[in-house]
Amino acid sequence: MARIAFIGLGTMGGPMAKNLLATGHRLVVHDLVEASTAEAVAAGAERVTVPAQAVAGADFVITMLPNGGIVKALLLGGGGLFAAVDGSKPLFIDCSTIAPEDARILAAEAVARGVEFIDAPVSGGVQGAREATLAFMVGGTDEQFSRAEPIIRAMARIVLHAGPAGSGQSAKICNNMLAAVIMAATCEALSLGERLGLEVETLSRIMAGSSGSSFLLERWNPYPGIVAAAPASRDYDNGFQLQLMLKDLGLALESARASHQPAPFGALAQNLYTLKQQSEAGARLKDFSKIIDVFRAGLPG
Ligand code: NAD
Repeated sequence: MARIAFIGLGTMGGPMAKNLLATGHRLVVHDLVEASTAEAVAAGAERVTVPAQAVAGADFVITMLPNGGIVKALLLGGGGLFAAVDGSKPLFIDCSTIAPEDARILAAEAVARGVEFIDAPVSGGVQGAREATLAFMVGGTDEQFSRAEPIIRAMARIVLHAGPAGSGQSAKICNNMLAAVIMAATCEALSLGERLGLEVETLSRIMAGSSGSSFLLERWNPYPGIVAAAPASRDYDNGFQLQLMLKDLGLALESARASHQPAPFGALAQNLYTLKQQSEAGARLKDFSKIIDVFRAGLPG
């Protein structure tokens, strides 16, 4: 069994660490907020107060942090974790969602310092993290993928090698931009149907069996009470937060601009989700299907 340093035990990292412990790995954990480590410690992890202590002797270092700035600040520089490696050659596996360019910078810095780094962002949300059914998309070499895969499997339903460094992040932001657009378009169609006098449940069943069908329509329906397990049926709580979708849309559009790729639907989705976030206090913490409000509000007159 491997010795794993796990840094960032928030909404996603906490349950992911517990799944690694459940498969018998030895975990040394760290989070800025000490209370966040409590569940992992109760499940058998060892806690350290200084992240560099977690890296000593580790086979793998997993990070699950809010953004690229934080990941770079933690790993790079003289006081960073790449520099704290002491003879062992751990593979750094960053599961945070960050810009592909930041992932490539980190991979290049890792090579320069004689350590290894891959990007391995996830899809599947909190439920996927708890149930070990996340989808991992990995950017790195074939050898790095083969080394990481058995560890990642303990947290995953599916593990795919997207390509070289940064490719996991590229795949993640393309997927989430598409999900943002499909959700907004699904809300528009369902809301029009409601206004035309249709039962939304009936319309949802019709569309699910027709060309308008999608994962989000069937599993993440934005109307309360249509899909019992969807965030809409629990007042849009414990889903994929609107603020995180906006973060991912920002990363996708930044990459689109840098690569001269038109992304009009992504840009429109960014506008719509921003409008919703700014129109209601607390909306940023609700599931992104809360965008339904923008359509149900209708137009004046
Ligand atoms: P979170 O804010 O709940 O957790 C992040 C954790 O990192 C917190 O516990 C925080 O205290 C800790 N942290 C921050 N800076 C630190 C530092 N310097 N050293 C140690 N610990 C530090 O976030 P989350 O929802 O778990 O998301 C983590 C990442 O996963 C993000 O990049 C997010 O975009 C991505 N993601 C989230 C979801 C989701 O549904 N929440 C789904 C897929 C991907």
